[in-house]
Amino acid sequence: MVIVMKHNATKQEIDEVVAEIHALGFKDHLSSGEERTIIGVIGDERPIDPEHFEILDGVERVVRILHPFKLASRDFHPEDSVIKINGISVGGNQVIVMAGPCSVESREQLMETAAAVKEAGATVLRGGAFKPRTSPYAFQGLGLKGLELLREAHDTYRMPIVTEVMASQDVSLVAQYADILQVGARNMQNFSLLHALGETQKPVLLKRGLMSTVEELLMAAEYILSHGNQRVMLCERGIRTFETATRNTFDINAIPLLKQLTHLPVIADPSHGTGKWELVTPVARAAIAAGADGIIVEVHCNPAHALSDGAQSLKPAKFAELVNDIRRIAQAVGRMV
Ligand code: PEP
Ligand code: MN
Repeated sequence: MVIVMKHNATKQEIDEVVAEIHALGFKDHLSSGEERTIIGVIGDERPIDPEHFEILDGVERVVRILHPFKLASRDFHPEDSVIKINGISVGGNQVIVMAGPCSVESREQLMETAAAVKEAGATVLRGGAFKPRTSPYAFQGLGLKGLELLREAHDTYRMPIVTEVMASQDVSLVAQYADILQVGARNMQNFSLLHALGETQKPVLLKRGLMSTVEELLMAAEYILSHGNQRVMLCERGIRTFETATRNTFDINAIPLLKQLTHLPVIADPSHGTGKWELVTPVARAAIAAGADGIIVEVHCNPAHALSDGAQSLKPAKFAELVNDIRRIAQAVGRMV
């Protein structure tokens, strides 16, 4: 349930509503917008009659949120959330471009790729240091060395870094090096990891699980939000279907559906969504046309020799063409790259 306060509600009226929420055994979640304050009642508030709050001074109306996700819901927070990351905004009018290698492989590889993606127009650098690989015999990432190289690339190219954190015990380490903490698809329902991320104030890029519904993705986001971190971005990265011609099936429906259901920014990952570099650009274009707030794309200078995900990695020149394409599409849908 959310309590919408009148635009001229006083601090005392707001405090009294919050006190009443606590008296009933619930937690509150205050959202102070430019126009008015909205107070979320957190807990199973189904037995409570909305009238209980409607009669309090300063209350304009009380809205029941019918979705199981509350803080993530647009009913709770009607305006788009804009997440500020080192001077970059995600979720506003600007479409964000994140790019870089699947894995950090070496200093040369990372620096060369960072220079190329920056030149092409990317504003956030991606690169995995801790890699969730299907096989324990495959390259597992450089770990701490990879994080150090990402920081060096950050300092050289002045780009915020997004990298995956795989375990709750690694959150504080990865948070020292990264500007955005990525939760990989395989970890979307790692609840202790989500809880730990909720206790940081670092932006989180939460990827949709391979077999997860849109509602499950939003419930995973709700874990992070309800533990105190409001800086969450969602990522559609394709789901597993009966189709084996592509690595995953990019769920284009999820983009406008998420934009309808939630205020959180929605990022598209056409690289994992398709698994084939030839399909990355057309799917990126479609995602921006469908309303995505940004894309995250794998780029490698020598995909044939990549240690992970070479088949879906774009060479820098192709990536530069992609950025030019989405620049025009963004403009056509009233956005900017
Ligand atoms: C990645 O970003 O390289 C990655 C492993 O993504 P996902 O978790 O979506 O498979
Ligand atoms: Mn990858």
